[in-house]
Amino acid sequence: MSTPLVIPVFIPHEGCPHRCVFCNQRRISGHGAVPVTGRDVARTVTTWLDRAAGRTGGDVQVAFYGGSFTGLEPARQAELLGAVAPFIASGRVGSLRLSTRPDYIDSGRLTLLRRFHVSLVELGVQSMDDAVLVRAGRGHDSGDVVRAVDLLRRASIRVGLQLLPGLPGESRCSLMRTVEQVIGLRPDMVRIYPALVLEGSALARLYRQGRYRPLSLDGAVVRVAWMKRRFAAAGIRVVRMGLQAGPELEDGLVAGPWHPAFGELVEARLMLRQARRLLACVAAGMRVELVISCRDQSLFRGHRSANIRRLERLGLADRFVLRLDPDQPRHTVRCLPAHRYRQDDGTA
Ligand code: SF4
Repeated sequence: MSTPLVIPVFIPHEGCPHRCVFCNQRRISGHGAVPVTGRDVARTVTTWLDRAAGRTGGDVQVAFYGGSFTGLEPARQAELLGAVAPFIASGRVGSLRLSTRPDYIDSGRLTLLRRFHVSLVELGVQSMDDAVLVRAGRGHDSGDVVRAVDLLRRASIRVGLQLLPGLPGESRCSLMRTVEQVIGLRPDMVRIYPALVLEGSALARLYRQGRYRPLSLDGAVVRVAWMKRRFAAAGIRVVRMGLQAGPELEDGLVAGPWHPAFGELVEARLMLRQARRLLACVAAGMRVELVISCRDQSLFRGHRSANIRRLERLGLADRFVLRLDPDQPRHTVRCLPAHRYRQDDGTA
């Protein structure tokens, strides 16, 4: 099955009277302050569909990103959603999704979303620790998240939850509790964006005053790898890790664990973990075959071969040979039985 075509429409800061400490929506979305009109939306959708001839129906989704969609005036929501309606009616677009705040979900808003066939709502949860939410200036608490998820489920709208590890006041314990509570909510998908310090945000001021220290890149990779593992074990898909690269984001980045391929760093770390665990059971003088997907070679090696160097430092690098298997599921490592080999020439 091909990856669905997602047509993005950005509505930076619209509908949002808040200024969360980490947020500078214009930098994140890379768009200015000019409001998007219904006509703009229709033009964007047409352009994308024309470029991707042959993609249609269930294969195509329109996504409103940024801002807090359900905080817009109902007429404004109807203008934007209504611009997509003809494409859904004609079958050229299969579904709609949008993002919003947990405290901007109620039965009246859901009636409007259902009228326009919105099939998935992503909630900016960030943390389930109320003390962290207060320090982040979110203006809602974890109870709002629980209520919103329940209302969305009752309306048969799928739920995505966005998390932001590394906010002020967050500890490892509070992050672990957040993940367990999110698992308990059974979302359809999760996105993880480690907190960054962006120019123009309150976090940038705190950072310059020495009152906030972001996660290091390595620290963020370790935390997000753990989160991904927990969610995977619970059968919950993590569809994105780390913000999308873009010139405005990179220009406005003051500090924090940003990397253009953050998700790959996390996947590489998880492959290293699997390899370490398998090789730890291999006796010295024995050698196993580690089997990975043909498409995971660079992930297995890690960024600039960091995983291989790590295995060498641990004395595990001579305990395996790598075998590529097109049928091996992506991001997994399998171990084939050990063979004794001669230390002098390394042959089996
Ligand atoms: S609610 Fe969302 S859009 Fe509004 S300031 Fe916070 S992060 Fe930014």
